[in-house]
Amino acid sequence: MVNKMKQSFHGELILPDRTVPDAYLVTEAGRILSVEMDVPHDTEVIEGTYISPGFVDLHVHGGAGADYMDGTANAVRTANRAHARHGTTTIFPTTTTGNTEELAAMLAACAEVKASWGLCDGARIGGVHYYGPYFAEDKVGCHSVEGRRDPNPAEYEAFLATGLIRIATCAAELDGAEAFYRAATEAGCLVTCGHSNSTWSEMDRAYAAGMRHVDHFWCAMSSVASLRSRYGTPMQASMEQFVLAHAEMSTEVIADGCHLSPELLEFAFRMKGATRLCLVTDANRALDLPAGRYRFGHPVTGSWFESDGKVGFVPGQGLASSVVGMDEMVRVMARDTSASLPEVIRMASLTPAERAGVSDLVGSFAPGKVADVLILGRHLEVEEVYLGGERVDW
Ligand SMILES: [Zn+2]
Ligand SMILES: [Zn+2]
Repeated sequence: MVNKMKQSFHGELILPDRTVPDAYLVTEAGRILSVEMDVPHDTEVIEGTYISPGFVDLHVHGGAGADYMDGTANAVRTANRAHARHGTTTIFPTTTTGNTEELAAMLAACAEVKASWGLCDGARIGGVHYYGPYFAEDKVGCHSVEGRRDPNPAEYEAFLATGLIRIATCAAELDGAEAFYRAATEAGCLVTCGHSNSTWSEMDRAYAAGMRHVDHFWCAMSSVASLRSRYGTPMQASMEQFVLAHAEMSTEVIADGCHLSPELLEFAFRMKGATRLCLVTDANRALDLPAGRYRFGHPVTGSWFESDGKVGFVPGQGLASSVVGMDEMVRVMARDTSASLPEVIRMASLTPAERAGVSDLVGSFAPGKVADVLILGRHLEVEEVYLGGERVDW
């Protein structure tokens, strides 16, 4: 008799370091069991071209009309379902600038969805990325300057104590940044510096306090040129040099083809490699919606941006994050860089899972991990998505 709980996926399996053609991924009761070369007995066989682990997105603001800062469970579910259709199976809903009440509502909504998660809720929440509001004034990007502030223990300690935050961002040059980094490190977070115009020496102090990652490389971060206008000469080394010079530092790229040229994507990959470079969508609520004008973050206090269906932007100012899913980032990275297919998939799955501390559960096909499986077509299009071995059909 066929054991309905056991199933296998047949195709070219994508492992972190190689692909295995004509192989079987066997799953049982929602978990990865084994990789086999022969037809497993007593299993339903699901056929595909490529069999990939589900994607893990460390930096994402929303989708399908919902922004996590809307602060409702309904918005969280809407965005998570949209991202699951694009292959993301573990998601880190990301805050932006907002007042303490708005941030608390976002965290409560994510906690509610995480605690009661079911298949129809879409991508599983790995944790929250506490990203705004501790941005540098001269690097807020598309976010409102009024919404930013320096880190305040009275605000963030209660948030960290929820245990829900797994990734924590702060600009290194702000007053109180080091205390924030230490508290977030203590809470087990991946600690990251973003929306920052910091120098090498500020990064050095941040590193000593536990900072190990930089948000969206080349976007809203310091450069030799931006520091020259702050400090004059001799010119100063920036976040860019710091990340490239420290093997332990990881970073992320928005590989939507609009934010960074192929040369920069290739450069980031060659410098950091597949174990320290993550693909992130940084997608906003305009994902899967027509071109138009939308609010970034909170529906009332968030700032306006436009989407042309390819990317978000603020007319006359610059880009305002992406409007495409992780599947598109994977295709662009595969097309525009020398990274092999296993390396591209690793940057969208195992590497972000490792950096965020969830790789014991997700990110690859190691036995015992959750059976989050994608069937990808010849051109890396998402054909089927399985969460814990169950097929997503919405
Ligand atoms: Zn940003
Ligand atoms: Zn962002």
